[in-house]
Amino acid sequence: MSFDVSAIRDEFPILKREIDGKPLVYLDNAATTQKPQCVIDALVDYYTTCNANVHRGAHRLADEATRHFENARDIVKTFLNAPKREEVIWTTGTTEGINIVANGLSALLQPGDEVIATGMDHHANLVTWQQACKTSGATFKTVPVTDDGELDLVAYQALLNERTKFVAIPHVSNALGTINPVKEMTAKAKAVGALVLIDGAQGAAHGWADVQDIGCDFYAFSAHKLYGPMGVGVLWGREAVLADWPVWRTGGEMISTVTLQDATWNVLPYRFEAGTPNVADAIAMGEAIRWFSALDQEAVAAHEKALLAHATKLADEFDGLTVIGRAKNKIGVLSFVMDQGHPADIGFLLDRQGIAVRTGDHCAQPLMARFNVPGTARASFAIYNTLEEVDALFAALKKVRSMLA
Ligand code: PMP
Repeated sequence: MSFDVSAIRDEFPILKREIDGKPLVYLDNAATTQKPQCVIDALVDYYTTCNANVHRGAHRLADEATRHFENARDIVKTFLNAPKREEVIWTTGTTEGINIVANGLSALLQPGDEVIATGMDHHANLVTWQQACKTSGATFKTVPVTDDGELDLVAYQALLNERTKFVAIPHVSNALGTINPVKEMTAKAKAVGALVLIDGAQGAAHGWADVQDIGCDFYAFSAHKLYGPMGVGVLWGREAVLADWPVWRTGGEMISTVTLQDATWNVLPYRFEAGTPNVADAIAMGEAIRWFSALDQEAVAAHEKALLAHATKLADEFDGLTVIGRAKNKIGVLSFVMDQGHPADIGFLLDRQGIAVRTGDHCAQPLMARFNVPGTARASFAIYNTLEEVDALFAALKKVRSMLA
């Protein structure tokens, strides 16, 4: 299989859009990726041909909807290399997956217990644990970030001890692009008996979510960063841990028996899936994973590497531009500040030229404080981006600089 970027682009109808008469250059993929036609079709097909509530109906449409929905769960299971399909829980996204785990953790932690997250976490993987520690009286600690934007692994080792009950690690930093050594960090946490959650919002987007290889207990991710729809994601949890984990929402489907005074809980995965699930989006998420997994992964990785290398080279040659985050191992994210102009001004002026980037703190305020910046402008690449688009970004930045001078 080879990688043909123009054929890939043809699968994404939105990439034909123009912004004020200029071709759209979409470089905000760490926020959300665009969707290929097959994913859009999966959504439309579901509502056109078999919309029905799942699991409960005694009719053809309900059977078909249930079959497609549960088939999507199997696709996710394979994608994650999960031992069991029952460990795959549908959520609304990474944030909800993390909250399900944190909700249980608040009840399980005791004063004296310790929880570790990191200084580069998205707020979803930071505030949630802060709150779980506040509720339970446990102690919250964070792994510091080096000047290159990597996790300080020596400091991490020093934080671990027999009181460490839980470790939350971002697979990949959304703000800097740093790929963290999650397997090595998980092994260290396991050596002291801690449970480990990986925030896979950015890692799964690159297809690296082999939960057995990583060795973690929980892995949370969102479909929308992996060419799938918004509003759906997955929490994977090891069966032995999840089976007794405190339930999250209560309601239909997650129960086994109910009396007027009490209730018992359903088996996995349903015990964490109260209420009518987002069936159409789950099916479309399955389609996105099927589509992505069929690509030549080595070619995809090489393409994204080439985009980052080209962008980094142009950034280094660009007067007055400073790249924040120079980890050795990075996804295609270029976070930067310029000597002139607030990141918000840079974003605004790039948009006027048809170029979509994200600006601000990227839901990582402590990380911005660590680098002493109010925020950054962030260009993030996906498989449909081209070297010409990277050139277009820097040509536009030249104009931005002259406008702000
Ligand atoms: N963690 C990371 C690293 C992220 O990049 C994001 C999304 N920006 C999240 C968590 C939250 O994901 P979602 O908004 O899809 O729940």
